[in-house]
Amino acid sequence: MICSKCYHVVDDEALVCPYCRTATGVKASNSKILVDETNKALAILSFLLAIFFPYGVIFGFTLWATKTDLQPKSAKVYGLCAVLPWFLKWMIPRLTKFIVKTLITILVLVVLVALAVLVALVCFGVLPIPVL
Ligand SMILES: [Zn+2]
Repeated sequence: MICSKCYHVVDDEALVCPYCRTATGVKASNSKILVDETNKALAILSFLLAIFFPYGVIFGFTLWATKTDLQPKSAKVYGLCAVLPWFLKWMIPRLTKFIVKTLITILVLVVLVALAVLVALVCFGVLPIPVL
């Protein structure tokens, strides 16, 4: 069904809209109650997978993507448990290496260009030939 307040698509049996918490009008008796309790084992599992394997983040990300409609709170917990440690452990070192390499490359290029300009100026007689 579609939420009358925020117009998100909502599970047909949901008691309240997971996006805006408006009652959907579905009676509790013929509905599975919307439970949004974080499963600690799943949260720990997504954390461990993300910390020990670079592609382990996919587990927590998949949990987030599949549960974000009906259990938005726990979906966020699973996602954060996977993405934060994954980013800190696997991405920060790679990004740092990449940035350092890029800076060194730029520095080398600047020095080479400066030397080339110096040589050109000496060759065209703008600067005197340095006598040591
Ligand atoms: Zn809504």
